[in-house]
Amino acid sequence: MRFNMDNFRIEGTIYRPPVEADTFLLQITAGCTHNACRFCTMYREKDFHLIDESDVRFNLMEAQRISGIYKKPVKRIFLMDGDVFSLSADKLEAKIKEIRMYLPELEVISMYAAVRSIKTKSDEDLRRLQELGVNDLHIGYESGLDDVLAAMNKGTTVEDCITQVQRLKRAGIRHNATMILGLGGKGRGEESGLAAAEMINRAEPQMVRLMTLSIFDGCELAEDVKNGRFEEAGEKEILTEEKTILENLELPELHFWANHILNSTPVAGYVGQDREWMLERIEKSLEKVDDETFKKSFKRLHL
Ligand code: SF4
Repeated sequence: MRFNMDNFRIEGTIYRPPVEADTFLLQITAGCTHNACRFCTMYREKDFHLIDESDVRFNLMEAQRISGIYKKPVKRIFLMDGDVFSLSADKLEAKIKEIRMYLPELEVISMYAAVRSIKTKSDEDLRRLQELGVNDLHIGYESGLDDVLAAMNKGTTVEDCITQVQRLKRAGIRHNATMILGLGGKGRGEESGLAAAEMINRAEPQMVRLMTLSIFDGCELAEDVKNGRFEEAGEKEILTEEKTILENLELPELHFWANHILNSTPVAGYVGQDREWMLERIEKSLEKVDDETFKKSFKRLHL
């Protein structure tokens, strides 16, 4: 059941992973505690804060009412905005207990999670959250290259990310990774692809989601482009990076999801069973693509 979010009290723009399109979205916090990645414009208009409890309650009652009318219990929920996992384990536990009072058949509680927010939780905290239903966290790895992460002010390193997601795994919490094609800029496609594949192979997410870098006004990277400090990779290089990642993945069960609207060649499947046809499709695009013509005809306007 897909909820019409117009019926709910929401602060600002909604962002959620495409795979959560049919999940009930509940806003607990607004914004992102970091809010400083050079490529990101998602939460620039708001400072990180908790959503008013009366609005959270209103939305829960509305979800309860609608699911009652359609006799479809809510089993999965995605907590917004960008950084709910930054709340302490105690605060998260209290929120989850409140949510369960309205949606008692809830099974999975998903949300975005930053590496730094995992780090602040003990192994015991993570196990407790898993028992409460927290699972399928969405984590922005963004790049497998430390210098790119530093240049983009991501505030984390490759090793840090791998260490923290391994802790999640030991606590029984699955996660999905996001990587951004083209984040290394012009000339670093193949290198980025190899590093990304190595990172994914070590971190073992259940899904990797590839989206192509799109630089919107309002982020520092847009200024870098204007000032010549960052040169964007052409489409040929983007596709080469995507192909390199797919060729080098060693996880047959991994869901490879490169279906984002920002990608020119949408493919999605499991590495073990679908790699061949996905590679063929990317290679076909690679043979045909001309960077200049592509730039004029394919516009990346919004997330
Ligand atoms: S990419 Fe994620 S961590 Fe970085 S500013 Fe945007 S929402 Fe925050």
